[in-house]
Order: sequence, then C-alpha cells, then structure tokens
Amino acid sequence: MRPWPAPAVPVLPGRGEPVLLHDTSTGARTVAAPGPRARLYVCGITPYDATHLGHAATYLAFDLLQRAWRDAGLEVRYVQNVTDVDDPLLERATRDGVDWRELAASQVELFATDMEALRLLPPASWVGAVEAIPRIAAAVRALVARGAAYALPPAPDQVDHADGSPGDVYADLSADPRFGQVSGLDRDTMLALSAERGGDPQRPGKRDPLDPLLWRAARTGEPSWDGGTLGAGRPGWHVECTVIAVDDLGSGFDVQGGGSDLVFPHHEMSASHGGLLYSPPFARVYAHAGMVGLDGEKMSKSKGNLVLVSKLRAAGVEPAAVRLAVLAHHYRSDWSWTAQGLDDAAARLARWRAAVAVGGGEAGSLAAQAQEAVLADLRSRLADDLDAPGALAVLDAWAAVTLAAPAPGTRADLVADAVDALLGIAL
Ligand code: ZN
Repeated sequence: MRPWPAPAVPVLPGRGEPVLLHDTSTGARTVAAPGPRARLYVCGITPYDATHLGHAATYLAFDLLQRAWRDAGLEVRYVQNVTDVDDPLLERATRDGVDWRELAASQVELFATDMEALRLLPPASWVGAVEAIPRIAAAVRALVARGAAYALPPAPDQVDHADGSPGDVYADLSADPRFGQVSGLDRDTMLALSAERGGDPQRPGKRDPLDPLLWRAARTGEPSWDGGTLGAGRPGWHVECTVIAVDDLGSGFDVQGGGSDLVFPHHEMSASHGGLLYSPPFARVYAHAGMVGLDGEKMSKSKGNLVLVSKLRAAGVEPAAVRLAVLAHHYRSDWSWTAQGLDDAAARLARWRAAVAVGGGEAGSLAAQAQEAVLADLRSRLADDLDAPGALAVLDAWAAVTLAAPAPGTRADLVADAVDALLGIAL
C-alpha cells in the first residue's frame, strides 16, 4: 500500500541520547535499539473503525520513538501492516450491506488522512494482509511441515468440506518451549484473555484451548484464497504480523509495538510463530501503549463511545492540539479523553507559540542559552522511556519564563525546531 506523505523533520544541532524503553517481556528498561539501524514494527489497524483516539495514541507513542531515534543518529526502518481481511471487518461489512473491500479501502484512506493531519511519520513499508497472503500461506505450510501446526477435521460449514480438504489449521503451542515469554501471564489469565480478544478456547478438537488459528478454511459467503496444501482459506491474524514483520525487518528486529491489549494473545502468538519459523527471538523489545477511555469509561466499539480523529478535525479542532492532548499523558498509562484535556492542549499550544514569537534573544544571551537548555532537556526526557509529559513540563517552564521577560522581535527558532522534530508539533 502507498503510505501517506511524510512530514518535514528539522535536523537539530548535536545529537540525542540512546532511547530507553520499558520492555513488557522483561519488565525492565532497555536500550530500544543499539544501532546503527533501528527496526520497528507496529501492528496496524483492521480498517473498519479508524481512527479513534486509542489508535492515535498508540501510533503517536511510536512516532515519538522514531523521532528520538532519528535525532540520536539511527537509521530507522518502520513497518506497519493493515489487517484488511478479518472477521470484524467482514462482520461490519455484512451488517452495513457494503462490500468488505470497499469498506476496507475507505477506512484505510481515512486512517491515512488522519495520520497525515497528525503529522505521523509514515512506515517505509505499509503492507496489507491480502497482498501478503501467498507468503503467509507458505509460512503456515512450513509450520505444518515441521509438526508445529495441525488441521482440524473439516467443519460442516466449510465450502468444500465434502471433498477431503483439510479443516482450519491451528498452531500447536506445545511445540514452542518459549511460549509465554512475551506476556509472562499465568494460564488462567491467558485463557480469559484468549476468549475476550478473538481467540476460540472453547472450540472442540483443539489440542490446547490456547492454540491460535493459522489458516481458516473457506466458508460460504467469505472471501478465500488458494493456500496450496492448506486448501482455500484465509490467514489468521497473528501469523499475518509474524510474516509481514520478519520479511521486511528480519528476525530479531528491535521493537514490536502496539496497544497493551495486544500483549496477549496477539504479540505472544506472533512471537511464538516467529521463533519457530525463523531464528529466535522474534523481536528484541516489546513495547506497549496504554488504553484510552472517554470521560472515565473504556472507549470501545460495543459501547459506541469512540472519539474519532476525523470527527474532531471536521469540527475544526487543530490536529496539533489533538496531538498535544495525547502527549500530555505518558504512553504507557491508561487515561481518559476529555473535552477539558483538549481545551488545555489548545491553550498550551497558544502559550508556546506566543513564547516562540518573543523568545529568541541575541546570540549568547540568556534567552539563547535557555533555548539550548530546552533542547538538551527535551532530549533527555524523551530518551527516558518517551517521557512526553516531562517534555511538556520543560516547555511550559520555558514558556512561562520567556513570556515574563520577552525579547520582542526575536523568534525562538531552536525551540520551534526542537518541538517540531521531537514532538511533531509546528509552532
Ligand atoms: Zn500485529
């Protein structure tokens, strides 16, 4: 797929610090990428409800990471998928009486427009599940061949159940001694989360209730593709990400990112498939963004309380204010979107802009030194597990001092460039 256009990123004087990230799999802080390359995979959307604030917050977190990496002199390679065929997309298309391909294409387009408006760096490679199906099917066949996957008997509703075609194919988790290392969860929690998040632990015939779907055999009324010896069908979600990530970034890439609701089963399963298909580990670091609620309630499709970036934009909200409202919260925390938070962000943006307009000072002046201090402090806040609230506090303090003793007619270009390059906000 063709990603959205990249925003301009000013090059700053000097160099940022190595970025430390909290790794979900170890619970410790670690250097996110030792360099000189930094390889990032962030799970993309299923295009049927784009782009709510939860999506935006996750992609913004990993946008900050890329900006800090680039500032630290690393060469960044960023890959994102689009799950453009999956159960929720097909269900929504059926409910709304639209073709699933048209629904996906329109939501992908909307998502790209939102990402561009929010000034997110686009992935170098943006890959749809549909275009990757031949490669994913080959990976599933490889897992079957090495005894790490098995087919169930054909289901009665399968299109070709009578002709001896295999049934749905599942991964055999007992083949993976490393299973569980990403999430570190106990089995009861895994079972509960599997049921809650798209797994099918109740399905009869599986060797282990947790075994995840790799290939769903064709059903009447559902799209399907040739899977060779797998029969006609479509891939499961976890193996989709495994293949798209490793094909581009190589096994042992630096950071697997996503929302915290993807820790289990999604990232656990993707890592399991990856570890068996290629040389482990699948990724070095697993980083997760918190969940965004609305006015204290969980934001969800079922509750119908999604806040969409496109709706905010249509209502005339400046995307930079949306960005700043999100960055006021640490990426790992769970938080709630409120109208007050957005108002606060707009006021903060106005204060920073007012300060930039009068905060340059002459060369060698206190104002000029203050700008250099701001750049150094922003760099160290972001290198510290992407402490965006800390970075905002640095800028608030600078703006307060600058507005109290302005130097009219001198623009604080260094601060403006730093905020643009590191936080993605044009002042
Ligand atoms: Zn994924």
